[in-house]
Amino acid sequence: MTGPTKQPRIGFVGLGIMGQPMARNALKAGFPITVTNRTLTKADALATAGAAVVKTPREVAQRSDIVVTMVTSSPEVETVTFGPDGIADGAHDRLLVIDMSSISPVATRAFAERAAEKGFKTLDAPVSGGEIGAIEARLSIMVGGDEADVERARPLLEALGKTIVHIGGHGAGQACKLANQIAVAINNLGVSEALVFAAAMGIDLERTRQVIAGGAGSSWAMQNYAPKMLAGDFKPGFMVDHQQKDLRNVLDAAFSAHISLPGTSLAHALYNALQRDGGGREGNLAIIKVIEALSGVEARIRS
Ligand code: NAP
Repeated sequence: MTGPTKQPRIGFVGLGIMGQPMARNALKAGFPITVTNRTLTKADALATAGAAVVKTPREVAQRSDIVVTMVTSSPEVETVTFGPDGIADGAHDRLLVIDMSSISPVATRAFAERAAEKGFKTLDAPVSGGEIGAIEARLSIMVGGDEADVERARPLLEALGKTIVHIGGHGAGQACKLANQIAVAINNLGVSEALVFAAAMGIDLERTRQVIAGGAGSSWAMQNYAPKMLAGDFKPGFMVDHQQKDLRNVLDAAFSAHISLPGTSLAHALYNALQRDGGGREGNLAIIKVIEALSGVEARIRS
């Protein structure tokens, strides 16, 4: 007779909008969890739910078989992985580190090499689906790295998301995420223009939204963001500053590859205007405010 399979011990570094519900879902799935975050009070609710809380990524690594990083961008991933008291300081030969933040594919590949030199394995596994996808464990997860490590990570990834696709080697997950961000940004712009146009035409905004969401003009943004845009609810979700970090990574890669992405360049410029006006920490759906300002028309349903 074989006993119950022992669940791998999972660590989480980064408990923001995404990391916190993802860690909670891993806990709900029965994995033993150790967490940390720069602002440690963000771990309070998880501690109450049964997670162990430690002060440094080093301690997370020492207590875990698999560590997920869900921080901001490439420099933060480098700090928590290779900085003082970082994951590498607590690494052991069974350690697998899965970076689920959205960062540069070039940085990802460099981190994978540094990790290999220090004797631990890595995957890049950025996600799409927003805060709601994280809360409801419905994320799309795009994975880069070695097949054996992807299979080792799969039970955990299945606790966090619904669509898990191994795209290719190290960095391939991040490249796929950048492609996703092109579609996200331009969709947000399309939804914004459609709603501002409808407002300018004086037609009923809620009926317009409903019928577009049921037809060929629909998208995730039309279904999930348009109601919030019309209600003037711009809290993040997914912050404009993070969206701009992703679009900068897209445009850097496009520059290196000599390809033209005019829609992405335009969306990036419009988001710049939003950042200039203090909207960097609003949700990325706030791009509608730029189109409204350019048009002198507000698309808002007042309750
Ligand atoms: P967030 O709310 O800003 O969370 C980032 C977390 O990382 C914060 O809790 C931050 O700590 C922590 N952190 C940063 N540097 C750290 C360090 N050196 N040590 C320990 N913790 C550190 O961002 P988010 O929305 O969760 O996004 C996380 C990543 O997922 C980003 O790469 C983003 O682009 C990506 N993403 C987000 C969404 C979305 O809809 N939100 C969707 C897909 C992908 P503090 O609490 O101290 O600030």
